Amino acid sequence: MERINETMSKLFQNDKFQLRLNQMKNEILQNPDIQQFLNQHHDRVTGDMIDRSLNKLYEYITQSKNCQKCISFDRCSNMIKGYEPTLIISGNSIDLQYDKCNKKIKYDEQKKQQDLIQSINIPSEILQATVDQVALDDNSRLKAVHLIQDFIEKYDKDKNRGKGLFFHGPFGVGKTYLLGAIANDLASKNVSTMLIYLPEFLRELKGSFQDQSLNNKIEVVKKVSVLMLDDIGAESMTSWTRDEILGPILQYRMLENLPTFFTSNFSYDQLQHHLSYSQRGEEEKLKAARIMERIKYLTIPVEITGKNRRYDKN
Ligand code: ADP
Ligand code: MG
Repeated sequence: MERINETMSKLFQNDKFQLRLNQMKNEILQNPDIQQFLNQHHDRVTGDMIDRSLNKLYEYITQSKNCQKCISFDRCSNMIKGYEPTLIISGNSIDLQYDKCNKKIKYDEQKKQQDLIQSINIPSEILQATVDQVALDDNSRLKAVHLIQDFIEKYDKDKNRGKGLFFHGPFGVGKTYLLGAIANDLASKNVSTMLIYLPEFLRELKGSFQDQSLNNKIEVVKKVSVLMLDDIGAESMTSWTRDEILGPILQYRMLENLPTFFTSNFSYDQLQHHLSYSQRGEEEKLKAARIMERIKYLTIPVEITGKNRRYDKN
């Protein structure tokens, strides 16, 4: 008795299965995309082939194609995120080929660009800036944009590397924003940039004093294709950070002809004064002068004026 019940129940399940399979097959064959594919390949597709490939065909109709259902790459609902299927004939069955969708292609391009910009303690809005978006509402910014375009046009990895720029002016006028814009334009030309908020970077380096990671960090900063040091002068520079960190970085970049950009609230002269902060007399002044020589060698100064954009975004 037990055994008959078992067999009956298996048969019953089997029937249910068959029913579901038929429903699925109907659904698949009514799908307009499938119909189009079958029409296109009517000379090669047999009934057997369809039966053998039902799982693939079903997978096809459940996946999003041409991004119709897609809001963004991040929210892609497909089995393989960012890939969409096409139906193909492979031997005696129908198969799926997955290719990157348009949104994934775009996302990868953007990611590749973003990877070219390394940054340390720089706000994300700055990393979105582009030269085209820079408001030209002020003569100083107009001049800056000309110099930026000059630099970007001339930039060539092996030769003709132009001087970097030293943007100086009051707080909030958009100096850091200009750095972000340059970095993004360079990324679109496949040039990598490192954008560093200098006060925080130097603070962190003091923390890793005598640590091997310190040398590694300095080596990376020395050698990056384009270096941008944001807000020089806003830090409380010690003799150690000035002479053992900043000095060698700038020296290396000068000798190797590697473009270096700065922003500062100080002009060249004011910065020289800040860097000497004559605690110990003449010797400090000389060292400050030596750093300034390197900065001047590496950059063209551009004063940025205008309103404080931090509180007035109109
Ligand atoms: P600074 O470095 O001179 O202190 P920021 O570059 O940080 O100033 O700019 C201050 C604010 O104004 C930021 O929020 C920045 O995104 C915005 N901003 C600066 N320049 C522009 C610009 N040209 N167009 C649009 N927004 C800008
Ligand atoms: Mg700034």
